[in-house]
Order: sequence, then structure tokens, then C-alpha cells
Amino acid sequence: MSGLERILGAQGMLTGGAPGSAADIEPYLRDQRRLYHGRALAIALPRTAAQVSELLAFCNSHRIGVVPQGGNTGYCGGATPDESGRQIVVSLARLNRIRRLDPLDYSIVAEAGCVLARIQRAADEAQRFFPLSLGSEGTCQLGGNLSTNAGGVHVLRYGMMRDLVLGLEVALADGRVLSSLGTLRKDNTGYDVKSLFLGAEGTLGIVTAASLKLFPKLQAFAAAFAAVPDPRAAVALLAGLRETSGDSVSSFELIPRIAVDLATRHIPGVRDPLDAPHPWYVLCELTSPRAADPLEELLEHSLAAALQEKLVLDAAVARDERDRAAFWKLRETIPEAQRRDGGSLKHDISVPVAAIPEFIERGSRWIADNVPDGRLVAYGHVGDGNLHFNLNQAPGADRAAFLAREEPVKRAIHDLVRDFGGSFSAEHGIGRLKVGELERYASPVELDLMRTIKHALDPNGILNPGKVIA
Ligand SMILES: Cc1cc2nc3c(=O)[nH]c(=O)nc-3n(C[C@H](O)[C@H](O)[C@H](O)COP(=O)(O)OP(=O)(O)OC[C@H]3O[C@@H](n4cnc5c(N)ncnc54)[C@H](O)[C@@H]3O)c2cc1C
Repeated sequence: MSGLERILGAQGMLTGGAPGSAADIEPYLRDQRRLYHGRALAIALPRTAAQVSELLAFCNSHRIGVVPQGGNTGYCGGATPDESGRQIVVSLARLNRIRRLDPLDYSIVAEAGCVLARIQRAADEAQRFFPLSLGSEGTCQLGGNLSTNAGGVHVLRYGMMRDLVLGLEVALADGRVLSSLGTLRKDNTGYDVKSLFLGAEGTLGIVTAASLKLFPKLQAFAAAFAAVPDPRAAVALLAGLRETSGDSVSSFELIPRIAVDLATRHIPGVRDPLDAPHPWYVLCELTSPRAADPLEELLEHSLAAALQEKLVLDAAVARDERDRAAFWKLRETIPEAQRRDGGSLKHDISVPVAAIPEFIERGSRWIADNVPDGRLVAYGHVGDGNLHFNLNQAPGADRAAFLAREEPVKRAIHDLVRDFGGSFSAEHGIGRLKVGELERYASPVELDLMRTIKHALDPNGILNPGKVIA
């Protein structure tokens, strides 16, 4: 421990050893879904990238497992230490400077501990736009976003986190630093090594900073909350809107009636934007960097045409920022509403966009036939083919008995996903939760390559042991 203190300083770590200090370390030891609760030798709170690199060199030579932690909002337990009490949690929260923002270059360089919302704000103040946007953006950190290759509500137009990265600074297991914070858009010089760390969930190195792409600031917005008869109509509406709007659709979220019921029941201030209930809804948003673009008009025309074609049953178009925020509040609070309603079984899946309707039909049928005490709450970023295909316990159902169905339900849904050529983890990663799923569904060649890479970069297995790859 004295070695750690030498690197970090007395204020740079928490051990929970001092009287009354156990509560300080508690939040670092469990994941936000309360699936895991671990123990740790210490919580390291480095302030500089150099401290992170020294810390890793120290842990590597002493064979101490290291668990990087950002905002701790991940869904798969990737940032939680195991139960051995022999690992160190490395919180990046204090490594949180914005090092550089260059509006002419449309780039920003920020440290791993920057909260996502702060990066968005910095871009906005410079008349630029950083598009990554998630329900957890007030808490999650850049390092976590990079390491989970986060998705969110703008993937349709701007891509996942991976697509927004220009360069990375990463401390490797042995303490060496990959320093590649350039902002080049074109650089075909050998293997793209930085991409290995994107989505690696802290198993190949600790990201300390990144250079990111910025975009022109958005000046025009139009949002609608539209009722549709079924997911087939939603997918057709999306395809049409992309054509008629010159691809200005930046978000397109599918929401079932049950999710509106849950959010309006459990979340204060959330209300149904439409007068009568409908089976399905989409929340769609058009955006443009040109203030004069008549997006609202365009959206209204498109929705009116879709009403004629019976692709849309009713719609509310946001008249101002308050309406728009209210639509988004409904969408973003669905996970919290689900949590307050009782036990839930979650599946973060993706299939090709055009296959979404058939996937939902077949998945719903299986659930109706096999899970009498569960209710399907399937919602998500349908513009990316990504559904949170979740089940909540039915009213009056026994929570423990419902949750005990996790294995067979997961197997049936993930097998169905495989049959559709989809992914059992679209945007939440593997963490600890889905290690077995990766083993089951990845090809032997993929698994072999992953193990080879892991061994090459972390031969002593100190980086986030037990996560992603067994
Ligand atoms: C309400 C809510 C909504 C969400 N919506 C979305 C969504 O729309 N899309 C989406 O993709 N996710 C979503 N998430 C999940 C989560 O917010 C994202 O996965 C986010 O990117 C995690 O960031 P974090 O800083 O909290 O990472 P953490 O949870 O702290 O860590 C996640 C993983 O990254 C590793 N890690 C963290 N920092 C580093 C680092 N500097 N270097 C190396 N490894 C590191 C950890 O070890 C862990 O394996 C949501 C979560 C919540 C609670």
C-alpha cells in the first residue's frame, strides 16, 4: 500500500480502513443495477495520466488486478471489482480536464474523467456539436463511453462512440503509454491500434484522454411523438422520413404503450402527449445546422402523408423546447420507470432494421406462450435496429419466481437474435454479465483472436480480470 501512496499521494486513494470511511468507498464497489457487490484493496483516484501509468506499472509487477471505473452507469457490471478484495478500483473522475478545443479543426481533446454532458456543453459554447447523447449523460464519463463504445440516441446520423474518435491516449498494462491524440481525419499508417481499446471495457488498457470529432452546432429542430399501429409501420415511416427530409432524421425511437403507462405512472411530470391510447409510438427528431431549414413544416407534411397511408394514427409535434424536452423525458425515463415497477429481465439486442417487426412478432409470441408472469416492454433506438427487449414482472407476480426465469428467457431471446443475424449486446457491452454469452455466440476464430490480443497486451491478466473474455 505504501507503493500506491507514493504514486498517488495520501489524498489520492481511499481504503475504507479509517474509522467511518467505509461508506466513502461503498459506491465504488457496486454497479448501478445492483447485480454485483465486490470488495477492493483500495480505490485509486489519480489526477494525471502519468499517475495512471505508474499505477499500472506497479500493479503489473505485483500482479494486482485493476478495475477502471468511470461514472459507474454501465449495465453489465464491467466497472465493479470482484469479491476477492484483492483488486484496485481506478476511478478516473479526477482526470477531468478539457485539454483543447479547436473550432476550426472541429475537434476537442478531453480527459477520460470528463462527464459526457460537460463535453457536450463545451462544444456548444464553441458553436459546435458533440453528438453522443445518452440518458446517463449527466453522470457517465468519456472513458466509460469509449470503453463501452456507447450508442445512444444519435447513432442513426452520427454513429457510435467509435465513429466519433480521432485519437486516444492509453496507459498499457506495463505502464507504457500509447499517445495518439492527433486529430487527423486521414491516417492510413499501419494497423489502427487505437480501435482495439474502443469497446474493450478496460481489459486492454486504461484510456486517459481522447481527441474527438465535433460537428456544426444544430440550429433547427423538429420533434414529434407519433402513434403508429405496429412496428412495421414505424420502420416504413422511418424509411420514408429519411428520404423526404434529406436524411435529417437524427433520432427515431420506438416506444410501446406499456412503456408510456409505466413512465406516466412512476415518473412525476411525465404525461402522455396524445389524448387517446395507441399500441405503439415513435419519437422522431429532425435536426439541421441551418437555422432556416423548415424542419417543422417538413415533419408535419410527412406525418400528414403518413396519416393518409395509415402508417400514423395520431401525432403531436413539439411547438417549443418544453414540448420537445417533455417527449424526451418520457423516452429517457423508461428504464427508471421499469425499475420502480418491479423486477425486470433486460436484453439489449440488435437486428437489421428491416427485420425489427418480425423479430418483435416472434419474440412476443414466445413470451406470451412461455412467460405468463412477465410483460414485454420492447423499446429503443429502432433507427439503429437496437431494441431493449425487456420483460417486467406482471402485476401481482412473484418477483423472485419471475427473476428466476432469467436463464431460459435469455436463451430463447438470444437464440432468436442469432437466427436473425443480430447481436445479443448492441450497445451495453459484455462486462461480467455477458461473458458466457460471448463464449456461446462468438465464433471460435473471433474468440481466439480476442484471447490472443488480450494475452499480447496484458500477459499477466491484471486489467479488469473476469470481464469480457474468460
Ligand atoms: C439511464 C441510463 C441510460 C443509458 N443509456 C444508454 C444508451 O442509450 N446507450 C448506451 O450505449 N449506454 C447507455 N447506458 C449505459 C452507460 O451509461 C454507458 O455504457 C456508458 O458509456 C458508461 O459510461 P461510464 O462512465 O458510466 O462507465 P462505467 O460504468 O464506469 O464503466 C463501463 C466500462 O468501461 C470501463 N472503463 C471506464 N472508464 C474507463 C477508462 N478510462 N479506461 C478503460 N476502461 C474504462 C469499465 O471498467 C467498465 O468495464 C445508460 C445507462 C443508464 C443508467
